[in-house]
Amino acid sequence: MSTLSKFLIRKAYIEGRWQENLLMEVDLAGMILRLEPYDGQNEGEEKAEVVTGYVLPSIANAHSHAFQRAMAGRAEYGSGGEDSFWTWREVMYRCAAQMTPNTLYHIARQLYLEMIRGGYGAVCEFHYLHHRPDGHSYEDSAEMSLALIRAARDVGIALCHLPVLYMTGGFDRRALSGGQTRFGHSPESYRALWQSLERERGPDVTLGLAFHSLRAVPVEVIREFEDFAPDVPRHIHIAEQVKEVEDSLVHSGQRPVSYLMDHVDIDDKWCLVHATHLDNDEVTRLAASGAVAGLCPTTEANLGDGLFPMENYLDAGGRIAIGSDSHVSREVREELRWLEYGQRLDSGRRTVAASSETLHCGNRLYNDCLEGGASVSGFRTGKLAPGYRADLVVLKEDSLLLAGLPDEQLVDAYIFNGNERVIDHLMVGGKWVLKDGRHSREDEINTDFRETMESLLAEQGAHA
Ligand code: ZN
Repeated sequence: MSTLSKFLIRKAYIEGRWQENLLMEVDLAGMILRLEPYDGQNEGEEKAEVVTGYVLPSIANAHSHAFQRAMAGRAEYGSGGEDSFWTWREVMYRCAAQMTPNTLYHIARQLYLEMIRGGYGAVCEFHYLHHRPDGHSYEDSAEMSLALIRAARDVGIALCHLPVLYMTGGFDRRALSGGQTRFGHSPESYRALWQSLERERGPDVTLGLAFHSLRAVPVEVIREFEDFAPDVPRHIHIAEQVKEVEDSLVHSGQRPVSYLMDHVDIDDKWCLVHATHLDNDEVTRLAASGAVAGLCPTTEANLGDGLFPMENYLDAGGRIAIGSDSHVSREVREELRWLEYGQRLDSGRRTVAASSETLHCGNRLYNDCLEGGASVSGFRTGKLAPGYRADLVVLKEDSLLLAGLPDEQLVDAYIFNGNERVIDHLMVGGKWVLKDGRHSREDEINTDFRETMESLLAEQGAHA
């Protein structure tokens, strides 16, 4: 019996260019073994499944807090005073307080299903809801992590699980209080959690290290982890809010990114999430470090964070990835679109991401985020090539959004043209998880999510 899957791909986006008629062989572990031009004579081609439509490598989502899917669209009312990230955070803490392993599982399943429909093949889950709401551990301290891992496996999305170290309530190192108590770990208990999760690693699950922020983890503690699991990705929230920059200046005399980079060896294993507020020196330093800026444009817009200095950073050779963070959007195209639109609104110019090497904005954004997302997820993904995972998305061949377009405009149109469904299929690790726009467990996942939301809202109403 053959252990390989074979696909005859009619049109694929490879290294930034469209090619036609390719034979792809995928092994049982979901890795591409062979990708070669199809000439009608290839060995084994008679067993190949024909894939029509436009095939692109799928993007890894660099930043997710799954539970926040339960509050998407629910923090859009005025509280009577001036609303900001910090008032939103209070609503978010109330949502976090309601999460049990079971509710988190159902919300994450729905979210991961929506991500697949939105074109993501992998997700980096930045997870800090470790304990019970009162701060006590679950019987198995990894229970909330395991709920997320089970959700990802049920849906079939590749998961980079990032348990988060969260120790303090501010730069002044005050103790955690209120809604934060269930997030807390000491470095020792965090190490133990991380090591207990190592058994969950597999072809579709990687593990990385995460530090919530410089507010929540003293920089000397981050440094203590330099030799711990030295090869895995490392993620941190940084410089998202002006107040965070101001607090950092008060307590360290430095801006957050400078402070971090002066004390920790930041290299290409790192994902600095948001990094919104950078001065010119930080732009240059961060770009030169090889670290990836994990940009979450729809969340950053929703929260009024500010604008990442993308043009200068890309010009300096900086690497980027996209994440959906609070999940007000779960679509690759909307994230990339707003990444570019923010820059246009700010600069009064168009095609900001275009460069002399890559004239098309869509291609530049897509290519860069493929590479950056793959790097910070710990998966060998983001490329259609032998030795990489067979993670790909297929756009509808007859989509009116792409009708009649020349090859060089297909990615631009995918990102910048409309919102009608354009994704037909999505493959993760050689397996179709979306076919003709549907997931095999979609109805069950949707129903469980609806019931979970109804019970969360009823519970909240009862306490209001
Ligand atoms: Zn975040």
